[in-house]
Amino acid sequence: MKYVVVSGGVISGIGKGVLASSTGMLFKTLGYKVTSIKIDPYMNIDAGTMSPLEHGECFVLDDGGETDLDLGNYERYLNVTLTKDHNITTGKIYSHVIQKERKGDYLGKTVQIVPHLTNAIQDWIERVSRIPVDDTGLEPDICIIELGGTVGDIESAPFVEALRQFQFKVGRENFALIHVSLVPVIHGEQKTKPTQAAIKDLRSLGLIPDMIAVRCSEILDLPTIEKIAMFCHVGCDQVVNVHDVNSTYHVPLLLLEQKMMDYLTKRLHLNEISITDEDIQKGNQLLIKWKSMTGNYDESLQTVKIALVGKYTHLKDSYLSVIKALEHSSMKCRNKLEIQWVEASDLEPETQETEKDKFHAAWNKVSTADGILVPGGFGYRGTEGMILAAKWARENKVPYLGVCLGLQIATIEFMRNVIGMKDGKSAEFFPDTDPESHVVVYMPEIDKENMGGTMRLGLRPTYFQDNTDWSQIKKVYGNKDSVAERHRHRYEINPKLITQLEENGLMFVGRDETGDRCEIFELKNHPYYVATQYHPEYTSKVLDPSKPFLGFVAASAGVMPKLLDGSLEYEGSADF
Ligand code: GLN
Repeated sequence: MKYVVVSGGVISGIGKGVLASSTGMLFKTLGYKVTSIKIDPYMNIDAGTMSPLEHGECFVLDDGGETDLDLGNYERYLNVTLTKDHNITTGKIYSHVIQKERKGDYLGKTVQIVPHLTNAIQDWIERVSRIPVDDTGLEPDICIIELGGTVGDIESAPFVEALRQFQFKVGRENFALIHVSLVPVIHGEQKTKPTQAAIKDLRSLGLIPDMIAVRCSEILDLPTIEKIAMFCHVGCDQVVNVHDVNSTYHVPLLLLEQKMMDYLTKRLHLNEISITDEDIQKGNQLLIKWKSMTGNYDESLQTVKIALVGKYTHLKDSYLSVIKALEHSSMKCRNKLEIQWVEASDLEPETQETEKDKFHAAWNKVSTADGILVPGGFGYRGTEGMILAAKWARENKVPYLGVCLGLQIATIEFMRNVIGMKDGKSAEFFPDTDPESHVVVYMPEIDKENMGGTMRLGLRPTYFQDNTDWSQIKKVYGNKDSVAERHRHRYEINPKLITQLEENGLMFVGRDETGDRCEIFELKNHPYYVATQYHPEYTSKVLDPSKPFLGFVAASAGVMPKLLDGSLEYEGSADF
């Protein structure tokens, strides 16, 4: 197993995740099997209990793990399926060691950060890196480890120490480190001091950079590269210039141009790994496909305008997977994506009274959009605005996609305005009201006491119902009988209302195994009015966009016939 650690210096949030997943993707183009581990030095056991407004979206895995959003990056770029163990947090690793201590595994010993915790981290990495993550079902060849935060923080110290020891444990030719740094441009001058300081910190902790990936808003001048190389004690070929490019999808190509793989191939003795001609062929096809995708991005002339009506719109990372699924879909549909961010409460009549401009600006965005999307969410705030947006889309025949909460609110809208249940609502927002008025109800199997990890989570099957051949979403899914997608919810559509809803044209085309739980609804006689109780965005891949999103963007961009006849496929073979 070859390990490539990606750490960061200077400041966080400069694209360590994109660099790490792009590097992994490039290893795949050489035919290797790649996996990844994300280390998050916070005390939470997982990201499930963190506010999206503070930490960005909570990503959900097949196994129901609620993890940091960076795991999504890896799944999307590497086309792999990770497990909750691929995300190590401080909380998780301490809890693991403390449990072992209670069981008596360290009997007689004083349990310490070094060596007990640092050993536990190393064992965890070795164990998890071997888990097969792609459809070959084989052990990966290369594991990318992303260390969250910046090196030098108190939080990350035990992990840094564990990695310092790990480089000797696995041997020099099996361990490489890429440090991501930043060169700010001040008054037109590229400043290298922060990078020099960051590398000094790194070296003082016993970690040696094999590559320095330098983020900069512009292309680095040769003297800047030479200066970094000299002061940081590396060769110029070890300094990679990660300047701003058209999109994050162009980053692998940028790294490729700079011969990053040549250096790492030598450094990690990759030729020792035996791969077949077929693997090499698959890798080549992947690169062809990737280039075809970025070509679409660069050459798209048309724009598709999507109104995203949510409640966490101040921090865009709250909707990261949704944005990514929209990006993947619009690239495939050969359209430039323009997201119009609409704070749902701005659409409500109260805003018209208090802040007229906001109200009109919000409605202007909704009414000029090619498609309207209501993503997942929790709590009452903004939901009346979302209901109004869903009504607009339904009545004006504008494509609509509802995800989780977006399905629930659109059903409330339909019950209120089509069926006439004027007081229709969700039990999530008004638990103590008349149950007869609950369009959305608490699911019977859900724990009411504990909040962490107790929702209906992870991969579950959805079965398309009989007589759904008319359904667009079924066609977009390739007329499958069933699909498996990821969930994260506590509430569901009241099963008692199915007949009434269907008699009026809101069809539960996809349901769970019981046949009572709505997983997908679709409105008849509408260009595209689809919602899912699950979150299709979590399984969207760069080269294989999520189907409900792809259908939505295709309908919004007016290219649904092309999507269905296969003329939007990328160059390169279908499987890689
Ligand atoms: N709050 C709703 C529920 O728990 C929707 C959840 C979501 O959108 N992820 O069912």
